[in-house]
Amino acid sequence: MRFDTVIVGGGLAGLIAGISLQKAGKSTAIVSTGQNALHFFSGCFESIQEAPQQVLDIFNEAGIRVHYKPGVRLMPMGTFKESALSLDDVSLFPTPQFGKRVLIINFMGYHDFFSSFLAEGLEKQGMECRIRFLTLGELTQPELGPNEMRAVQIARKMDDVWEKVVQEVRVLLKDEDTVILPQVFGLKDASVPTRIRQGIPAQVVFAGTLPPSVPGIRTQMQLKKRYEVLGGTYLMGDRVTGAHVYQDVVQNVVTKQLDRHYLEADHFILASGSFFSKGLVSNPFKIYEPLFELDMDYNQDRNTWYNPTFANHQPYMGFGVKTDANLQPSRKGVPVKNLYVIGSILGETHPELGSGAGLAIRSALKVTELITK
Ligand SMILES: Cc1cc2nc3c(=O)[nH]c(=O)nc-3n(C[C@H](O)[C@H](O)[C@H](O)COP(=O)(O)OP(=O)(O)OC[C@H]3O[C@@H](n4cnc5c(N)ncnc54)[C@H](O)[C@@H]3O)c2cc1C
Repeated sequence: MRFDTVIVGGGLAGLIAGISLQKAGKSTAIVSTGQNALHFFSGCFESIQEAPQQVLDIFNEAGIRVHYKPGVRLMPMGTFKESALSLDDVSLFPTPQFGKRVLIINFMGYHDFFSSFLAEGLEKQGMECRIRFLTLGELTQPELGPNEMRAVQIARKMDDVWEKVVQEVRVLLKDEDTVILPQVFGLKDASVPTRIRQGIPAQVVFAGTLPPSVPGIRTQMQLKKRYEVLGGTYLMGDRVTGAHVYQDVVQNVVTKQLDRHYLEADHFILASGSFFSKGLVSNPFKIYEPLFELDMDYNQDRNTWYNPTFANHQPYMGFGVKTDANLQPSRKGVPVKNLYVIGSILGETHPELGSGAGLAIRSALKVTELITK
C-alpha cells in the first residue's frame, strides 16, 4: 500500500498532522496502537494561549469547542493552575475565588471524583461548600456494577440522562451561586456541557475526575472522525514493528497486522509519543527510540536522569529524539532524508515549539508545511 505520507502514532500530534496533510490534498495513513495522552487530557492545551487561525479551523471543522481567557482553572483536587487554550468544558477564571457558595454534586457509589478535596480547596479560597450525592437508577445495579463506576461508563449513561441530572440539581440548589459537576458529560455530543450550563440557574463548573478523561476521549474521537471524513486511513490497534531504511531513505514500515503488506510512502512522520506511549524507552543503561534507533538528545549519566524531589521538574522529561531545525532526525549521525519527528517524543529539545499539547500541535503544523511546500 502506498501513500504520500505514513504517520506512526495517532495521538494529538499524529492526528493534527494527518488532518492538515489531508486538507492539503495529500494521501496519508496513520498507524496507532491505541491509547494515547488524550485519554488523560485535562482539557487544557498547555503552552497555547491564543491559537493560530489554522488550529482554530481544524478544531472548528472537527466540532471541538475551545476558548481562552487569561487566569486559572480548577484542578481535580481543589487546587488551581494557570490556564491555556481549553475545551469549552473547562471553566477559566480571572482569580481562584470564582463563587461565594458552591454546591458540589457527586454520584452515589462513584469514587473517582474527589468532592471532599474539592470542597477543602475551595474553602481555602473563602468559598462555602455543600456536597450532595445523586442516586440515579441508571447508575446502580444491575445497570452498572461497583467496578464499572468509571468516568467513561458513567459518561455513556449520561449521554441519555443528562437532562434528568439537570432537573435533580435544580431541586437541590438552594442559595448557591455555583454548581460543580464531575466531567462525565458530552462523551458523544460536545454541546451537552453548554446545554447543562443553560439548564441550571447558577454558574456551572465541570471538574476533572480520575482518568480516563471524558473530554479527552471525545476530542480524540472528533479528530479521528474528521481525519477519516477527509479521506485519511486510520489503522487503529495496529503497531509499526519495523522499518526498511535504504541509503538514508525510509522505504516502508512494517506493521503487526499487515504483515508483509508494507506501508510505502514518500514521507514518514514519527509521532509515537514519549515514555508513556513507548515512543521512547529506557532501561538501566540507556534511553532509546525503539523503531528507527534514531540519535537521542540525553545525558548518558543515569544519575542525572531524575530529580529525587518528585514534584520538581524531572530531567528525563526533557530527553527526546535529536532533530535539526526541520524536525528531521539522524541515525548514527547520518540524517534520514524523508523522516520527520513530532509531538512529545521530542521531549524539550525544541523549546521554541512549546510543551504539552502546544508542542504536539506546533510541530505537526511545521512538518505539514515542510512536506507540502
Ligand atoms: C498522562 C498524560 C497527561 C497529559 N495531559 C496533558 C494535558 O492535559 N494538556 C497538555 O497540554 N498536555 C498533556 N500531556 C502532554 C501530552 O504529551 C501532549 O499534550 C500530547 O497529547 C502528546 O501527543 P503525542 O501525539 O505526541 O503523543 P501520544 O498522545 O503519546 O500519542 C502517541 C501514540 O503513538 C502510538 N504508538 C507508539 N508507538 C507506536 C508504534 N510502534 N506503532 C503504532 N503506534 C505507536 C501510541 O500508542 C500513542 O497512541 C499529557 C501527557 C501525559 C503522558
